[in-house]
Amino acid sequence: MIRLDLDQKLLVSPGATVKVSDFSTEYSAGLADKQQAAEELASNIEMMRMLQDKLYAHNRYSVLILFQAMDAAGKDGTIKNVMSGVNPQGTQVVSFKTPSAEELDHDYMWRIYKRLPERGMIGIFNRSYYEEALVVRVHPEFLLKQQLPDVQDPMHVDEAFWQTRFRQINSFERHLHENGTVILKFFLNVSKEEQKKRFMRRIEDPSRNWKFSKSDVEERQHWDKYMHAYSELLSNTSTDYAPWYVIPADKKWFMRMAVSNIIMNKLNELPLHYPKMSQEDLDRLEDARKRLEKEK
Ligand code: ATP
Ligand code: MG
Repeated sequence: MIRLDLDQKLLVSPGATVKVSDFSTEYSAGLADKQQAAEELASNIEMMRMLQDKLYAHNRYSVLILFQAMDAAGKDGTIKNVMSGVNPQGTQVVSFKTPSAEELDHDYMWRIYKRLPERGMIGIFNRSYYEEALVVRVHPEFLLKQQLPDVQDPMHVDEAFWQTRFRQINSFERHLHENGTVILKFFLNVSKEEQKKRFMRRIEDPSRNWKFSKSDVEERQHWDKYMHAYSELLSNTSTDYAPWYVIPADKKWFMRMAVSNIIMNKLNELPLHYPKMSQEDLDRLEDARKRLEKEK
């Protein structure tokens, strides 16, 4: 079996200034195809299943895994695939869409906080508070709806505004980390050419038509602005306590295997154990055994 340690290879080093273009969208760690990755994926999923069981029983840590990506990069498929082996009772997936009027009447973490995973659980965010420095940065007019005291004209929102958001996000994540939440962040990095191919497939294949929305092509027109926003975000919010991983997304089979590999390794590093039984608990178990054995 192949054993890959992709953590370091795909990690955005905390403090490093990076650009999305520094990262390959088609790297595959020397693996040629889906068949070669399949065994590794299956073994990662099996390990994750065992570790999640312990995480749940231990009930001290929670794990937050978030995904950000351009449309059609494969967030949904990756989540489905990677979490396929784990107990549904121990996971929760939350998709964050355009904020509602009620959500906009609060600060941007309000809706997030309510959906964070409980202790013992793995929570998956399909999009997240990072949209606040992505779609909102590309369309600063969205800020007007947020009723912020200091934003009158979004066209004049400056660099300092985004730096402040990054600081807020880092503080939020540090707080979570210090209170027992393990945070992993994945940017699924698809190329512009591959996105076009996938859009075309969605248009041409009737069974995929539903996945296509007109706004996807509109957002594509802002590709360079999105890449700039992603570069800024990766450079400012990858930390020891909440690292970013840039996952090459042009080959779906590699992306899924890489994500599962990183999650599995992180879970494996946690000091998890099944709750220890006290002597009193053990005596009670022994008592229960005797009573069961006595039953006719
Ligand atoms: P699918 O893959 O099914 O298309 P999706 O994640 O793209 O899934 P959509 O309903 O198509 O889901 O899109 C959700 C939209 O909500 C995205 O355009 C995203 O940018 C937007 N959104 C999410 N969070 C925010 C936010 N905080 N402010 C503004 N827009 C947001
Ligand atoms: Mg969409």
